[in-house]
Amino acid sequence: MEYELVIGLETHVQLNTCTKMWCGCANEYGSDSNTNVCPVCLGLPGVLPVLNEAALRKTALTGFLLNCSVPGYAKWDRKNYFYPDNPKNYQLTQLDFPSTVDGYVNFESLGGIVKVRINRAHLEEDVGKSFHFADYSGIDFNRAGVPLLEIVTEPDINSAEMAYDYLNALKNILEYGAVSDCDMEKGQVRCDVNISVRPKSQSKLGEKVEIKNMNSFSGIRRAITYEFKRQVEVLEKGGTLVQETRRWDDDAGVTDSMRTKEDAHDYRYFPDPDLMPYRPSDEWLSAIREGVVELPLDRKMRMMSQHKIPQESADVFVREPLLGDYFEQAVKGVKNSRSVANWVINNLQAKLVESGTTIDGLTFSPAAIGELVELVESGKISGKIAQEVFNEMFKSGVSPLGIIESKGLSQVSDTVQLKAFCEEVIVANPASVDDFRDGKEAALNFLKGQVMKISRGKANPKMVDDLLREMLVD
Ligand code: ADP
Ligand code: ZN
Ligand code: MG
Repeated sequence: MEYELVIGLETHVQLNTCTKMWCGCANEYGSDSNTNVCPVCLGLPGVLPVLNEAALRKTALTGFLLNCSVPGYAKWDRKNYFYPDNPKNYQLTQLDFPSTVDGYVNFESLGGIVKVRINRAHLEEDVGKSFHFADYSGIDFNRAGVPLLEIVTEPDINSAEMAYDYLNALKNILEYGAVSDCDMEKGQVRCDVNISVRPKSQSKLGEKVEIKNMNSFSGIRRAITYEFKRQVEVLEKGGTLVQETRRWDDDAGVTDSMRTKEDAHDYRYFPDPDLMPYRPSDEWLSAIREGVVELPLDRKMRMMSQHKIPQESADVFVREPLLGDYFEQAVKGVKNSRSVANWVINNLQAKLVESGTTIDGLTFSPAAIGELVELVESGKISGKIAQEVFNEMFKSGVSPLGIIESKGLSQVSDTVQLKAFCEEVIVANPASVDDFRDGKEAALNFLKGQVMKISRGKANPKMVDDLLREMLVD
């Protein structure tokens, strides 16, 4: 029998606010353990939370970027459970009135554009982090109370590859919106995978398994592939699947059962008595809407059609938004936009890496790259000289035209001067001249190379070609 894979993802993303969700402690990774803490985020008795508006703003903005709507009413609920890293013994979250609902993400996958619906993106708080030492464990509460956005998809994903592409697209969108730094290594993005299988002909969803403990997108892809196989095997052997939570063991490459079915009532959810529900005003929302940026996929499509650049170039610019911005500045008013793209991707990017500089550290403006391309296009300099000019420009910040003038690098297109170069080369290389006259094309390339050499790369190659042919026929 053929089985179909059904996946829904719950992605937790730390918002990059300056301070935590309910107190003024720094939201900062890498501080000494238990230094960004206070009575509120340690859950000491008698304290009251104060809402961080920046977290609400970033949540609404994320909602807009994910095509969600922002309901006029949202509230806070306590999810109660006992665990050492959870100092209050409850986690604040949004159960039935979340901040944003009903959106979708379009992204590239499996050779086309696919759509995954977003059920909701709601706000909650992160908990502390446990560390296990030789014979004791410790907890760092710096992370407790950091605003955490949970983005829940509908079960629209049907392959490991699609899940992987969705996660990358989501990360890219969140980075564009500058709502999270999305650093996987720092645990800023974590994902639970809900997965079930069903016979291809069946419309009812299968029993779902939730896989936890995933900290890399490639790990998630491997876990899905493993779990699909495992579930199909159980069914093929006539067994039944139960709703359960499993843990991914990345080293062993397997999932193990952690616990079976837990229901919402196990958490004794109830509205938080310390926090008021909130009603976003229209003015507040429209101010946030102004911060909505062009989405990566839209940007890619627009760049390809507006600038006529190939898909591979647009992909680079979408992955590296600053480089893309730079390109869009550089290409203004320049006809050969492909050439500008090549310069930015091949030359500029390589130079940046080589010199350890960032785009903001450049001493020349994007327009200088456009100018350089135009100089090559108009035949004022050759491609080879352009390289030299570019290197100089990178060092000194002087404009291409300035460099060409001060170094006398303009391409020589004066027939008299070029003829003199050709004459010199013909006289000095009688054997090659004979070869060419005997029909060996390669000999002409050699002669041309010699002309370029004595002109120090400045001779107009097309004119040299024409002139040599003309002079050698005589
Ligand atoms: P729960 O109440 O158990 O948390 P939800 O309905 O909130 O379940 O769904 C949680 C996630 O699991 C969502 O991403 C959803 O798309 C996904 N999901 C729900 N049912 C299934 C299923 N049968 N197979 C795969 N994913 C599912
Ligand atoms: Zn605090
Ligand atoms: Mg749920």
